[in-house]
Amino acid sequence: MSATTPPRVRYGKQVTESINQTRVRYVILFGCAIATPFLFPPTWPLVLLAVASYALRMFGVEAIYHRYFSHRAFKCSRPVQFVLAVIASQCGQHGPLWWASVHRVHHQNVEQPDDPISPRQHGLMQSHVGWVWCERYKDTDLDVVPDFARFPEILWVNKHYTLLMLSGAFFIWLLATAGAFGPTVTGGAALMWGFFLPTALGVQTVSLVNSIGHFGHLPGGYRRFDTDDDSVNRPLLALLTMGGGWHNNHHRYGASARAGFAWYEIDLTYYILKLLAALGIIRDLRDQLPEDVREEGGLAPAAAKVSDLR
Ligand SMILES: [Zn+2]
Ligand SMILES: [Zn+2]
Repeated sequence: MSATTPPRVRYGKQVTESINQTRVRYVILFGCAIATPFLFPPTWPLVLLAVASYALRMFGVEAIYHRYFSHRAFKCSRPVQFVLAVIASQCGQHGPLWWASVHRVHHQNVEQPDDPISPRQHGLMQSHVGWVWCERYKDTDLDVVPDFARFPEILWVNKHYTLLMLSGAFFIWLLATAGAFGPTVTGGAALMWGFFLPTALGVQTVSLVNSIGHFGHLPGGYRRFDTDDDSVNRPLLALLTMGGGWHNNHHRYGASARAGFAWYEIDLTYYILKLLAALGIIRDLRDQLPEDVREEGGLAPAAAKVSDLR
C-alpha cells in the first residue's frame, strides 16, 4: 500500500437475530400463509389486495435488494435510498445488506463450494431454502457490501428489518379497519391476505430463482448465453418474480438494470425502474447492453450487421 492510500475500512459482521429466531419467523410465516384461505375464503377484494401486496414486495426484492443494493444498476439520492430500503424490508427476506452480501458471494463463487445457493454443489433443497436455515449465513458480512455499510441509516434498516416488516403489517391492518379495502375486508382478513400470504409466496418464488434458476434439467427454460454456471432463463418464473427469472441473462451481464434482454423477455421491474427514472426519482439507469453481449446473445439488430458490411 502506498503512503497516500487510505487504509481500507473494515466493518465486520452485523448480528441481526439468532438462527432460531429466523426459523421461528419462517415457520409462523408459512403456517399462517397456508391457513389463510381456510380462515378467510377468497373474495375479489382480498385477492386484489394479495396481488398488490405481492407486487410491492417482489419489486422490493428484485429492484431494490437485487438490482440496486447487490449490483448498483442505478443511482439515487441518499433520502430515496433510505425510503427504497424501508420499502424493500417488507419482503420478509432479511435486510438489504444481508441480502446483497449473500447475493454478491453467490456471483463471486457461482457453482463453487462457497456459493451458498448452488444446486450443483448443494442439491436443490439446500439451494432453495436450506441455506437460509444455516448458522453460517445468519449474520451480515458488511465487508462484502462496504459501499452501503458506510450509511448508518441503511445499517439501521438492516438490523431492524423485522420491526419495519411488522410495522408494515400493522399498517395494512390499520387501513383495513378504517375501511380502505371496502366494507367486507376485516383487519384479520387483510393481515392474512395482504401480509402473510404474499410475503410467503414472495419468499418461495425468489427461492425458485436460486434453485430451478440454476437447474437446467427441469423443462420450461432456455440458456441464451453459454455461461460457466448453470443459470437458466425461465419465462414463467420471470413473470412471477417481475424479471428475476431471466437468470441466465443476468449471470452473463449482471450490471444491467434490465434482466429481460430481448423485447419479448418481459421484465416488469425494468419497466417500473424506467418510469421512476423518467420521473426523476432515480437516475443513471444502466440499461445499455455492451455490443459483445448483444451479439453473443443473438440480440444485435440485423440492420446494424448489414450496414457493417457496406
Ligand atoms: Zn444465480
Ligand atoms: Zn444478481
